[in-house]
Amino acid sequence: MGGLRVRSVLVTGANRGIGLGLVRHLLGLPNPPEWVFAACRDPKGQRAQELQNLASKHPNLVIVPLEVTEPASIKAAAASVGERLKNSGLNLLINNAGISHYKSFDSNTQEDMAQVYATNTIGPLLLSQAFLPLLKKAAQGSPGSGLSCSKAAIINMSSYAGSIQDIYLWEYGQAISYRCSKAALNMLTKCQSLGYREHGILCAAFHPGWVQTDMGSSAEMKPPVTVDESVGGMLKVISSLSEKDTGTFLDWEGKVLPW
Ligand code: NDP
Repeated sequence: MGGLRVRSVLVTGANRGIGLGLVRHLLGLPNPPEWVFAACRDPKGQRAQELQNLASKHPNLVIVPLEVTEPASIKAAAASVGERLKNSGLNLLINNAGISHYKSFDSNTQEDMAQVYATNTIGPLLLSQAFLPLLKKAAQGSPGSGLSCSKAAIINMSSYAGSIQDIYLWEYGQAISYRCSKAALNMLTKCQSLGYREHGILCAAFHPGWVQTDMGSSAEMKPPVTVDESVGGMLKVISSLSEKDTGTFLDWEGKVLPW
């Protein structure tokens, strides 16, 4: 396997956790992308310090301000990425930003549901709409008729917690709003795969594993998977995806998961 070769990629929620890991691994590839767009909501803030350090060493890393719950912010991000890319498109959009509330039925509020849904489900929808012209351009500019992530793709960072058939880690937390938002994200991924196939864009949902990040560690148990293991695994799987994989739900090791 030759590894992932993409000209341009955008990762949301790139300042910490899995998003930051993705950026690090992309920059460290034998053939790194010409452009890595690392989107985060506060590029100059303390929580983006590691991203700023990386950007000072890698001229192909561009930090893009992005609040995924604000349509104006999403439009501005798409416009600035388009300007950088000039006449070429965006090959890979990774909708990684997400939040969770570990609440039970009794304590789950209307605000929790709305906020988690806005971030985890509506955000990826609006991002795919705003970046569609750039993804289409990338697909049109790539030779060959099949689908692949080197050509044009949307990867939605979902969670096994969103699987309806195989309820994952229920004993560790009900996380109702989170589970519902990821189940809806899975449906969105399937719809995107059907709607965007004709434009040459592959769409897939991923479960990154139970990973040692702020979110993964918030259930007071040490998660079994490191960020490096998760991200290394996902990039390997992403590099191997083809036509047959669009509209699927996969884990970081490439296993097909039940919806
Ligand atoms: P973290 O909590 O460590 O990081 C979340 C990232 O999302 C941060 O960069 C955060 O930015 C960003 N973010 C949150 N809300 C917004 C917003 N409104 N606009 C822009 N950025 C936002 O999470 P992980 O790295 O663990 O998770 C990444 C993805 O993987 C999520 O979608 C999560 O659901 C999924 N996942 C994670 C698992 C795990 O075990 N860790 C398991 C299954 C799925 P900021 O610093 O500004 O808050």
